[in-house]
Amino acid sequence: MSATSITLNQFYHKFPKADIHYHLLGGVRLETMLALANKYGVELSETDAKCYYRAHQHETGIVKGGIEALTFLYGLMREPEDYFRVLVEVAEDAHACGVRYIETFWNPSDTNIPYPIATQAMAEAIDHVERELGLVVRLIPSINREKTPEVAVEMVEQLIAHPHPYVLGIGIDYKEHNAPVEHFWKAYRLAEQNGLKLTAHCSEFGLHWRNVESGLELINVERIDHGYTILDNPTLTQKYATQGVPFTVIPSNTYYFTQWPEHNEWCKKHPIRAMAKAGLNIIPCTDDWHIHNTTSANCYRVMVEDFGFDLGSLRQMMVNSINASWMPEEIKHQWLIEWTAEFDRLRALLEAEPSIAEHHLIQYRR
Ligand SMILES: [Zn+2]
Repeated sequence: MSATSITLNQFYHKFPKADIHYHLLGGVRLETMLALANKYGVELSETDAKCYYRAHQHETGIVKGGIEALTFLYGLMREPEDYFRVLVEVAEDAHACGVRYIETFWNPSDTNIPYPIATQAMAEAIDHVERELGLVVRLIPSINREKTPEVAVEMVEQLIAHPHPYVLGIGIDYKEHNAPVEHFWKAYRLAEQNGLKLTAHCSEFGLHWRNVESGLELINVERIDHGYTILDNPTLTQKYATQGVPFTVIPSNTYYFTQWPEHNEWCKKHPIRAMAKAGLNIIPCTDDWHIHNTTSANCYRVMVEDFGFDLGSLRQMMVNSINASWMPEEIKHQWLIEWTAEFDRLRALLEAEPSIAEHHLIQYRR
């Protein structure tokens, strides 16, 4: 190794990345959860807290999912300074992994403080991290689909009553099984009429492809979060590949770990591979950073080391992430030039390109 060369692991950490599917509270550190509980006198042992974090669940033997973690955390976020703290910590951890841009989901209908106050606290944190780290964060208030469509409409009314330049659009998340996106058409229509961008979690948890179809064809969302089962409909897969609809995909998605607990089978069968082969516009994202024990660098490492993508594929995904973001076109154009140059410069410093077995290799280009 020469003095200037870098390892693959350093490469995954250094090249510029945009994470556009990031749940703010999924990025709460374990020690921050404990500190918030302590601040408000909520009884929470370290062992109890670890039950929410995938990295520690083998110690506790109790597995609580991402949705349970987020619900619990909203209960611990009671003052504007809590939102400020969490957003700054999220940005610090992302910065250490080469992330330059985040679009983060949060659920205004779950908070203990009024929407404009929470937004203002996060906006101050966004200014702070942009100044200190050069990292840009923007906000996507998200519908909690386990609540009623009327609550979703109220959320959008709040957004319209208190517009903020850092709030770019809306999303929808939480448990999808009995709450497909079309139930929330009124909230989405109101958002669209008021110039907000639209995305939606669709066809997560192995649910039917028609949830993606409804999101795109009926609700007019511009992006799909997850959307894996679209592969079960080859005609629509082809259509959305041709249209270039962005799909934010999550290598650490819980559902597929439970489908194929055996690592090799998971590597081979994960729908991200088939989505890429079908030519869909995919963007790897972290979803729930600390809760699911992942990072943006790890997300791209998995793409290579587990799913068999070459480094040219990562470059393509990085380009996809910029294009799918909701930043102004002139900034995206500038990032495309700067980030690809930096990717290529770092790639040239690698001591070796990853070696991937030919039968497993994917060269993803669009
Ligand atoms: Zn998500």
